[in-house]
Amino acid sequence: LTAGEYGPEQGGRVVAHFGRTLDVRADQGGDAVRCHLRANLEGLVTGDRVIWRAAHDANDGVVVARVERDNVLERPDARGQLKPVAANIDQLLIVFAVEPAPHANLIDRYLVAAEATGIAPVLVLNKTDLLPEHGGELRDLLGRYEGLGYPVVTTTTAREGGLAALHARLAGRTSVLVGQSGVGKSSLIERLLPDEELRIGALSKDTRKGTHTTTTARLYVLPGLASGEGELIDSPGIREFGLGHLDEQQVTAGFIEFREWLGHCRFRDCRHRHEPGCALLAAVERGDIHPQRFTSYQRILESLGDA
Ligand code: GDP
Ligand code: ZN
Repeated sequence: LTAGEYGPEQGGRVVAHFGRTLDVRADQGGDAVRCHLRANLEGLVTGDRVIWRAAHDANDGVVVARVERDNVLERPDARGQLKPVAANIDQLLIVFAVEPAPHANLIDRYLVAAEATGIAPVLVLNKTDLLPEHGGELRDLLGRYEGLGYPVVTTTTAREGGLAALHARLAGRTSVLVGQSGVGKSSLIERLLPDEELRIGALSKDTRKGTHTTTTARLYVLPGLASGEGELIDSPGIREFGLGHLDEQQVTAGFIEFREWLGHCRFRDCRHRHEPGCALLAAVERGDIHPQRFTSYQRILESLGDA
């Protein structure tokens, strides 16, 4: 790196990465610039904030430092080892649908995974065009999550304006959309990023590789918004977040309404199963914790194989 070849240090954000080559967008805006990494830097991911310098000919640049991350989304690689895939995310949009109907247990699983990352979850109920007039059970279920403090947004891709509430939620934040297959994630993304060339051009690198669909995540600026005013990080692999490994401590911490009771059990090492003097069991008994949430909790613990 010869002084004079590069301009002054400036802030930027990684919008895509390919090994040791990154696309970085300057905080002041403009097109992304293809950058290489200074030798001592490693493991940068899409969404990372960086310090970089543009080459004087403006065709490329060099990343000299990574700014500390607010949070990071990780996924297991082929060997089961957790690898960061995206960073600095403001909210995790957990998409589910009227059909196939969601199980409370699955929603809880996603919420636990979100809480473990420190990224704020938002529940997105899609396909509301299929919601029966009063949609009783599902509305009760959603109401319970709202009661716990989780934002709930409803969407439908089946009519104009069906994404209005989601658009409002995306403004001013960096979001990631996750959820099970068939809930409408691709349909939502197509609506949110209607510029097909940008979207397909960006994703084709992943999808053409076939089995390597879990690699590169991209950061998109939502149309009509300036960079920094509403962004989406997406890749086929990232959409599968939430079904990976959790440990017992993360599961317990992931049920946010349990927090006020934890530490009040008679036994310090209480595992909240059948222990006498368990504050969680007492809270369920009194109705301060919803029994379905507690059942979810037990089922998730059992799925860890240590029940
Ligand atoms: P993904 O697997 O989560 O990406 O889901 P897709 O976007 O592929 O959608 C799965 C199916 O649901 C497709 O047949 C979509 O046409 C359909 N779908 C998506 N959004 C809606 C919606 O709002 N209402 C209805 N009725 N169907 C939808
Ligand atoms: Zn207990």
